[in-house]
Amino acid sequence: MSYKNNLDWREKNRERYLKYKRDWARKKYKENKEFREKINKKERDKYNEDQEYREFKKKLSKKWVENNKERHNKLMKKDYEKNKDKWNLRKTTAYRKKELFNYHNNKCKNCGLLKNLQIHHKTYNITKGIKGYVLTEELKKKTELLCRQCHRELHKK
Ligand SMILES: [Zn+2]
Repeated sequence: MSYKNNLDWREKNRERYLKYKRDWARKKYKENKEFREKINKKERDKYNEDQEYREFKKKLSKKWVENNKERHNKLMKKDYEKNKDKWNLRKTTAYRKKELFNYHNNKCKNCGLLKNLQIHHKTYNITKGIKGYVLTEELKKKTELLCRQCHRELHKK
């Protein structure tokens, strides 16, 4: 087939041609790891750099969730089964943080401020945060609650 004929065929069979192209890309995406990574990186970069695109994608995904509630729940459940530890850790990290805030009466130890509170770790080996730790009395005692300003001042010294 000559190039001209090829173009004619494409025009006449546009739907078929597009489907063929889609299937080809889908197959390549599935089978070729390098291609997949390249596409994903391109997508990620665009998402991170282009705010308009980001808004568009967010709107799109929100709409998709609204229209596919059942499917979305199923996918979330599947993801939860697969990454149980991660999900539980996320839940318990927030839970622990709240517990620790309550333990310190939800106010800055230094000036008594009630907002912009941060957890200050008195010992170096728990600077990684309270993630993944069992919140024992001993561990609680190794922390203090400080407002952002006091926390900053403390670390300046
Ligand atoms: Zn303070």
